[in-house]
Amino acid sequence: MSKFLKEGYARLVPYVPGEQPKDRAYVKLNTNENPYPPCPAAQSVLDDEAKLLRLYSDPESSELVRAIADLYGVSEQNVLVTNGSDESLAFLFCAFFDQKRAVAFPDITYGFYPIFADYAGASYEEIPLREDFTIDVEAMLRSKKHLVFANPNAPTGLKIELSDVRRLAQSDPDRLVVVDEAYVDFGADSAVPLIKEYDNLIVVQTFSKSRSLAGARLGMTFAPKALLDDLKTVKYSFNPYNVNRLTEKLGKAAIEDVAYFTDCVNKVKKTRTEAKVRLESLGFFVLPSYSNFLFARHERIGGKDLYLALKDRGVLVRHFDKARIADFVRVTVGTDEQMDILYAALQDILEKTTR
Ligand code: PMP
Repeated sequence: MSKFLKEGYARLVPYVPGEQPKDRAYVKLNTNENPYPPCPAAQSVLDDEAKLLRLYSDPESSELVRAIADLYGVSEQNVLVTNGSDESLAFLFCAFFDQKRAVAFPDITYGFYPIFADYAGASYEEIPLREDFTIDVEAMLRSKKHLVFANPNAPTGLKIELSDVRRLAQSDPDRLVVVDEAYVDFGADSAVPLIKEYDNLIVVQTFSKSRSLAGARLGMTFAPKALLDDLKTVKYSFNPYNVNRLTEKLGKAAIEDVAYFTDCVNKVKKTRTEAKVRLESLGFFVLPSYSNFLFARHERIGGKDLYLALKDRGVLVRHFDKARIADFVRVTVGTDEQMDILYAALQDILEKTTR
């Protein structure tokens, strides 16, 4: 640390992304990426657009925003695209939350929320999930703070109903309700249509999961115009060209190819259903999943040991060293072939484990 770093930043505990070890080939089931490639049109974008890279991108990403607005049935002024949805979350924590404008989110959720809060200098409250790991909607209703939550939630994979999102948005027009829908396409109802009804609702989605573009870094945020204008104030004070030319084209191709998107999502859902049965037959307790990952624990082996034993066998999953979930691992749904390698590794590990 240099002597120049600001005090508030010196205390930050930065986010730790899922590991990307290079020592050998791994079956990578640790960061909830899509196991299938981006749609064919996205793959051809690179050749056509490369020559234009000498020019800045369109700061408004107008073509992409139009395509998104058309698909989701909202107005263009209600859509903002960002460099991954993480960037949109960073913008909104900075724009709306501080010491006085406190925010609340579940205690077990996307690990970046408390970090964004610290980065923004905001106070925050962590609302415990219920015993069954579902989001405690009643406790969120009781909290007077602004709200951020993922639906489906991560790393549990559980969801809340749209009627509950509506109750939260309705509970107090003076508090913001931010729904992080990174995994929504795999099994929850989206709150995007509700932004027409509630002035205090923001919905954040990503191209990283259901549209296979994690590496392109693209997120989309839906909100009433006044809120989006605030986010744009942050964006234009930070990085006006936040979405590069290639990514804008890739995103447009991915939005337009609805058939490919549907096919990929359905394949992931089918593999997820089979994987839950398979893991249960190996003795795992598996939470119901409405996302592209499974959250599972086994009586005979702790989460950390299981993660290490799988890594040893070339399979990466994610373990969180945190109270209540330390016994679990989070497994991204891969291709059927990748899952077969996972099952074989698990079988081998469990045969050698007597706890
Ligand atoms: N929200 C949740 C709940 C996530 O799990 C992730 C992925 N780590 C993100 C947001 C960020 O996704 P991205 O920045 O790739 O759009």
